[in-house]
Amino acid sequence: MKKGKKLYEGKAKIIYACSEKNYVIQHFKDDATAFNNQKKSIIEGKGILNNRISEHILTYLSQVGIKNHLVKRINMREQLIQHVNIIPIEFIVRNIATGSLTKRLGIEDGTVLDEPLIEYCLKDDGLGDPLISKEHIFTFKWATKKEIEKIDKQLHRINDFLVGLFRGVGIKLVDFKVEFGRLKNNNKNEIILADEISPDTCRLWDMDTEKKLDKDRFRKNLGNLIEAYQDVARRLGILHEQSNIRPLKFPKPKAVKLKKNK
Ligand code: UDP
Repeated sequence: MKKGKKLYEGKAKIIYACSEKNYVIQHFKDDATAFNNQKKSIIEGKGILNNRISEHILTYLSQVGIKNHLVKRINMREQLIQHVNIIPIEFIVRNIATGSLTKRLGIEDGTVLDEPLIEYCLKDDGLGDPLISKEHIFTFKWATKKEIEKIDKQLHRINDFLVGLFRGVGIKLVDFKVEFGRLKNNNKNEIILADEISPDTCRLWDMDTEKKLDKDRFRKNLGNLIEAYQDVARRLGILHEQSNIRPLKFPKPKAVKLKKNK
C-alpha cells in the first residue's frame, strides 16, 4: 500500500490518498486549536496519543457492532480508514452540562443530565459551527430523516458504551463530539462512524477529583495536556507505566572493540 497526495488538511488531521481503492490514510498532527481556530499551539506528542486512543476506542466500538471507518493503525501517527463523504454535521452527546451549553442557556456547570442530550452543529468553521435543529437538517437536506433516526440510535449506543468504558477506569464521560460519513462507492449509501474519538473530542473528568483529562486543559490554559492524555491512555491499558510517547533520542552508539578469542 502506497501513500498518495494530500487530499484534505483539517485542524488536527490530514487525509492522504492511498493506493487501495476506497481507502485513505488519516494522519494525526500535534496541532491544538480552540475557539474556532482563534487559539493555536503545537503540542508535541498529542497526535501520537490521539491516534492510539482513537484506534483503541474505535476497535472496541466495531467489536460491539458500531461500524466505523477504521481499518487499522499503520504507524505512530497514521491509520488506514475507509473513504467516506463526511456528513456536514457535528453530533454532540452530553451527560453533564458544561462548555458551550452552560454559556448558551445559563445552565449551572456540572449539572448531571437525567438523559443524554444530543445536539447538532453545522460543520462550518467560517460560521463557527452553529447549533442547528433537526428541522434545519431536513430543510437543507444535510441528512434524511431516516439517516438521523439511525444516527441518533447509534449515538445512544456509543454513549452507553463509552460511559461504561471510561467509568471502568475511573473517568466520567462528560460529553463528546462525533462525525458520520457516507461510504464512497457504496450503492446502499451506508453511513458509518468516522473521524476520531479522543481527549480532543471528549470531555473526560477524573471520577474522584473531577480533574480535566481532555482538551479543556488547552482551552482553559490548565497546562500538562500531554500528561493528562497519557493518563487516559495508561488507564485504558494502551500505554505502559514507563512509556514515553515523545520520540526517544538515542545517543550515537560508540564503537565497541571486540576482544579477540584467545
Ligand atoms: N467538540 C469537538 N469539536 C468541536 C466542538 C466541540 O470535538 O468543534 C467537542 C468538545 O471537545 C466537547 C463536546 O464536543 O467534548 C461539546 O463541546 P461544546 O459544544 O461544549 O464546545 P466548546 O465548549 O468546546 O465550544
